[in-house]
Amino acid sequence: MKKLLIVLCALLLCGCATKQYKDLGYSAEEARKIVSLKEDSQAYFSEYSDTLAALLNDEGFREDKLKTYFKYLDIFSTGQLIELANDEVITLDNYDRVKNLTELDEFMIDNIREYLKLTPRFDDEILVYLVNNDMMDSYEKVMKLASDPMFTLDNLDIYLEHFDEKSNIRDLIEYINSKAYLPFYTDEERADVEKYGYYVLVNKYYKLDADYAPDDLVNVESKYGRGKFRKDAYEAYKKMQDDAAADGIYFYIISPYRSYDHQYSLYHRYLANDTQANVDTYSARPGNSEHQLGLAADIMSSGYDFGTFYMAPAAKWLQDNAYKYGFIFRYPESKIDITGYKYEPWHYRYVGDIAEDVYKSGVTYDEYFEKYIK
Ligand SMILES: [Zn+2]
Repeated sequence: MKKLLIVLCALLLCGCATKQYKDLGYSAEEARKIVSLKEDSQAYFSEYSDTLAALLNDEGFREDKLKTYFKYLDIFSTGQLIELANDEVITLDNYDRVKNLTELDEFMIDNIREYLKLTPRFDDEILVYLVNNDMMDSYEKVMKLASDPMFTLDNLDIYLEHFDEKSNIRDLIEYINSKAYLPFYTDEERADVEKYGYYVLVNKYYKLDADYAPDDLVNVESKYGRGKFRKDAYEAYKKMQDDAAADGIYFYIISPYRSYDHQYSLYHRYLANDTQANVDTYSARPGNSEHQLGLAADIMSSGYDFGTFYMAPAAKWLQDNAYKYGFIFRYPESKIDITGYKYEPWHYRYVGDIAEDVYKSGVTYDEYFEKYIK
């Protein structure tokens, strides 16, 4: 009799316990499984969840992994949870990294073990790309490339293809990012002034339409030189020239805006006396000149000419200060392989509020535009 009572009580208690889970929506079988778990495990089932129910019914279900399943509930499906947690691919400790990986566009669940095998020495995005494309034999090279702040994953294949062509990583990356690995004047795109405003790039890969002319050109007053300049660039220039004069440094504009036709005749005048390969290093082809933007100016100092301007105090002052006024120095001596132009210490380009950032980046605008603006 006593024994019977105990059995009866046990049955009743058990029935009460399972009823609680059945009321939540679990089946009788699932509820029975839940009450057979330890008390702190049961706590995970205080609300109904399809995924939790499916986990319980999966033959791979392990109570000791319940905490891990639960942590990754929003990320993986039931089958994935069981497999990855049971094999300790996903653990309580690597949640943040796994979550970041799964949020990458290129993430592939089949490769997750490969990704996690490697310590992330650079962005997981790069790692995922390498694993997905079976490129782990390039790991060491990619590590070197990725240490450069201008590294761009989209260009990775091209960096690797040209890896031995430059003696250091910085030069290689700039060479690729700026498109200079392509022959000049090939693969040209339209320079889109409407889209990029003062940030537009015009070089040997970006060309202006023949009929493009800015609609806000103003005349440069004789005090500041000659020609026409876009209004904002001119205002910034005037302040620059005035501030320089206050420092005892004197210069003025000799050539700001040039129309397509003007550039055409200039270029062809040079061609009459020189080879095209040579002319291309000091004169832009029509459509490829920043002067057509009305945002570039050649600046000169009394007593100097193009051959000697680099020695003028104005040249040094401009190099150190022009960025404060929205102007950048476009054709440095050491970047001929990138810009395609010889050293032009007199040529400045207005880009507005990003000038300081461009200056501090230390890279050519050709590379800066591709990396940050485009
Ligand atoms: Zn110029």
